[in-house]
Amino acid sequence: MGLISFKDLHLDEVHDVLGGRGLLDRGPLIAEQAYRGVHGQFAQRFADIRGLSHRKVARLDDTFSLRALTLESVHEADDRSRRYVFRLDDGGVVESVLIPRHARWSLCVSSQAGCALGCRFCATGMLGLKRSLEPWEIVDQVLQVGRHAGVRVDGVVFMGMGEPLQNEGAVFQACRVLSCREGLQVSPRKIQISTAGVVPAIHRYTASNHRMDLVFSLVSAVPEKRALLMPIQKTYGFHELIDAIRAYAASRPKRHVTLEYIAIKDLTLGDDDIDAIREHLVGFPFILDVIPLNPVEGSSLETPGREEVRAWTERLRPLGFPVKVRLSAGQDRLAGCGQLGATLL
Ligand code: SAH
Ligand code: SF4
Repeated sequence: MGLISFKDLHLDEVHDVLGGRGLLDRGPLIAEQAYRGVHGQFAQRFADIRGLSHRKVARLDDTFSLRALTLESVHEADDRSRRYVFRLDDGGVVESVLIPRHARWSLCVSSQAGCALGCRFCATGMLGLKRSLEPWEIVDQVLQVGRHAGVRVDGVVFMGMGEPLQNEGAVFQACRVLSCREGLQVSPRKIQISTAGVVPAIHRYTASNHRMDLVFSLVSAVPEKRALLMPIQKTYGFHELIDAIRAYAASRPKRHVTLEYIAIKDLTLGDDDIDAIREHLVGFPFILDVIPLNPVEGSSLETPGREEVRAWTERLRPLGFPVKVRLSAGQDRLAGCGQLGATLL
């Protein structure tokens, strides 16, 4: 029988596997010990976990593998954020970005190697899709960065490479593992899943009992502009997307939905953009997260000046919703949103 990848599993599933093979007869603690060792102390071999007898180590080794990504390089930016580059078993590359948030640490993870959606402003999109990641390949980004940086990762955002809602099963399983009580204990409330607008998956999410936050790459509120920037809009239209966001918002009353808006020079900072926001974004509470475009080579889109972004967002104030201007972490080390994978082009 082949070995099962340990980092794919929630503690309850580790129990089930061991129980199913009659290996729990020495008490259920073997599962907890192994789980705490791998997820809490970042052990890379079962033999390194303190307190596990040789017998238990042998049972675990006969059942599970501790497959891991290969850490290729780490790049630290001036703002203390760090970009981690990992090699996959089949040669692909994914990246994660560790972001300091006051006294805490948040990790931006990848859900796919590359991305199939081809947004015009995004370096990952220019790569095309190599493949989706498995749950353990998502979980291991968090484990390895925590181990390397010596920090407890407190929040996880799926804003790295890939479209998480085109890899739903693996992403949700990874979230279960990351929030497990004997593991990293990342609260689902501190996990954000960013989507470019895979409408049927948004509806499925709304109907589910997942507790992570979805955030939405609106990018532009003018349907024609969004269509030019995001080919996915040919499949799922603008109004369909807004309806899906509205239904999602209705399912979590009292919480604001985050909409990511990209500030692009001469394109998304006009009067018509303000009119479109006023016209289309009605009937649900939201925060507009304005991200000035991070330059991506091979694209003719330009980054606006700081003053232009500030002046435009000031004009949104009377509309009465919260607006944040978000400067991406680590731009000088190509770790900003949409820059992941830029070195692979
Ligand atoms: N595929 C998902 C998540 C990954 S992209 C999505 O599209 O939402 C994460 C965020 O980075 C998205 O909000 C996306 O709009 C933004 N982004 C992509 N390229 C960017 C760029 N060049 N400059 C600024 N933000 C960018
Ligand atoms: Fe894919 Fe998101 Fe980049 Fe679009 S913005 S190409 S969906 S990773």
